[in-house]
Amino acid sequence: MLRGSCHCGAVKFEFREKPEWLTECNCSACRRYGTVWAHGSPENVTVKSDPDATFRYVWGDKDLEFHTCKTCGNTTHWAPTDPNGDRMAVNTRLVPAEDVKDIRVRHFDGADTWRFVD
Ligand SMILES: [Zn+2]
Repeated sequence: MLRGSCHCGAVKFEFREKPEWLTECNCSACRRYGTVWAHGSPENVTVKSDPDATFRYVWGDKDLEFHTCKTCGNTTHWAPTDPNGDRMAVNTRLVPAEDVKDIRVRHFDGADTWRFVD
């Protein structure tokens, strides 16, 4: 279980999987956000916040939405725009460092080849 919170505490999440690795992606969005993602099934992730606590950013093929706290500006997670989508991710930069220090970080080339480059 990984627990995270944005800086101001308006958005909290629980991630009830043990990720094999974390993902740093170099796509045009992720490299700007500076996120390190843990990907999992939406049924194993709970995001606790007021519905209007985050703003959503959707672009490109519009299959996912990035959520960012309106108060402190931390990007907390992304979720599929399709309600039946089976993948989402939380930003482990918002998880206590010691809880993720032993998990390998992989580099994903979302900018170009759409493959891991490590
Ligand atoms: Zn916040």
